[in-house]
Amino acid sequence: MSIFSHPAYDNHEEVAFYHDAKSGLKAIIAVHNTNLGPALGGCRMWPYADDGEALNDVLRLSRGMTYKSAMAGLKLGGGKSVIIGDPRKQKTPELLRAMGDFLNTLGGRYITAEDSGTSVADMKIIGERSKYVSGVISGQEHGGDPSPSTAYGVFVGLKAAAAHRWGRTDLNGMKVSIQGVGNVGFRLGKLLKEAGAELFVTDIFQDNIDRAVNELGATAVGADEIFDLDVDLFAPCALGAILNDSTIDRLKVGAIAGAANNQLAEERHAQVLKERGILYAPDYVINAGGIIDVYYQQLGQEQGEYDAAQVKTHIESIATTMEEVFQRADETGDTTAHVADRVAEERFGHKDALNGADSAAA
Ligand code: NAD
Repeated sequence: MSIFSHPAYDNHEEVAFYHDAKSGLKAIIAVHNTNLGPALGGCRMWPYADDGEALNDVLRLSRGMTYKSAMAGLKLGGGKSVIIGDPRKQKTPELLRAMGDFLNTLGGRYITAEDSGTSVADMKIIGERSKYVSGVISGQEHGGDPSPSTAYGVFVGLKAAAAHRWGRTDLNGMKVSIQGVGNVGFRLGKLLKEAGAELFVTDIFQDNIDRAVNELGATAVGADEIFDLDVDLFAPCALGAILNDSTIDRLKVGAIAGAANNQLAEERHAQVLKERGILYAPDYVINAGGIIDVYYQQLGQEQGEYDAAQVKTHIESIATTMEEVFQRADETGDTTAHVADRVAEERFGHKDALNGADSAAA
C-alpha cells in the first residue's frame, strides 16, 4: 500500500497511524491542510474490509473537510480520523480512551467530533483523555449533535437554490423530494413543511418513512422511484454517489440541494447536470451547518461561551456563499461544483490556485 503516491494523497500534511494492543484500537488520522487553522473533522468507525479501504476513506474525507471549512468561512483546516472496526461490536470505552491518547500525539493539529459510527456519548469518553474533541457541548438543546444545524444550513441553501433557479422568495407549494429521512433529512423535511413545501420521501427503513408521513404529511415513494418524480427540487440526504450515469437522466427536477456528502459519482456528472438544466448546490457548501456548529462548540469549550444566535447567523451565510457560487457559474459557464472547488482553493491557498493553474479538484 503506497502513501505518498496514493491517488487520494493530494498533498496531505500528515497521516498518522496508531495501534493500541490493549484495547485493540487501530486508527488513522489524516490532516490534509492547516493553512486556515487546526484540522477539524469527524471520527468515523467502520468495519473496513482492509487497511487500504480505511486509508482511502480517511484521505478522501479529510481533503473534503479542508474545502468545506474554507467555504464555510471558518478558521479551520481539514482533517478526519477513522477507527477500523464494527461500532456495534468492537467499540469499548477503553478503545475510545486510547483514541484520546492518539489525538494527544498530534498536539491539537487535529480536533475530532462525531461521525458515522460514533456519537456524542463516544466523544465524551474520548474527551476523558484528550481536550481535542468537539461536538460535546452541554446545556444546549441539541446536546452537541450537529444534525439540526446541518439541516438548517441545507434549508437556507435550498431556498437560495430556489431563488436562483426560479426567482422565488418562498417555498410555498413547491414540491421537494427527500432521499433519506434520518437525522438530517427528517429535520430538513420539518423546516420545508413549515415553509409550505409539499414533500415526497423515501428511506430504507419503514419507521423513518412512517414518521415523515405521519408527522410531516409527506407522500411515501419507493427507494428507486425517487429519481423519476415530477417535482421541483431533489434533496439527497442518504448516501453518496447517487448522481450518476443511471440516475441523472431520469431526474425531472430543476435543482438539487441536499445534505449527503459526495453526491456526484464523478466530477464530470456536474457537467451532465448543467447540460440538463439542473442547478446543483455543491454538497460540501450546503451541508456545512454541522461543521459551523462544531466549530463554535469548540470555541465555546475554550472560551466558555456558545452563542446559539451567532451560530445561526453564520449558518445563514451559507445562502450568500451559495448565491456567489451560482452567479460565478453563470458568469463563467463553469459548473457550480467546479466553481466551489476554485473558491475554496483560493481561500485555503491551494498550490494550484496560488499558481493560477487549473487543478480540477475531484
Ligand atoms: P442518518 O443515517 O441519520 O440518515 C440517513 C438516512 O438515509 C437513514 O434514515 C437511512 O435509512 C437512509 N438511507 C440509507 N440508504 C438509503 C437509500 N438507498 N435510499 C433511501 N434512504 C436511504 O444520517 P444523517 O446524519 O441524517 O446524514 C445524512 C447524510 O448527510 C449523510 O450522507 C451524511 O454524511 C451527510 N451529512 C450529515 C451531517 C450531519 O450533521 N449529520 C453533516 C454533513 C453531512
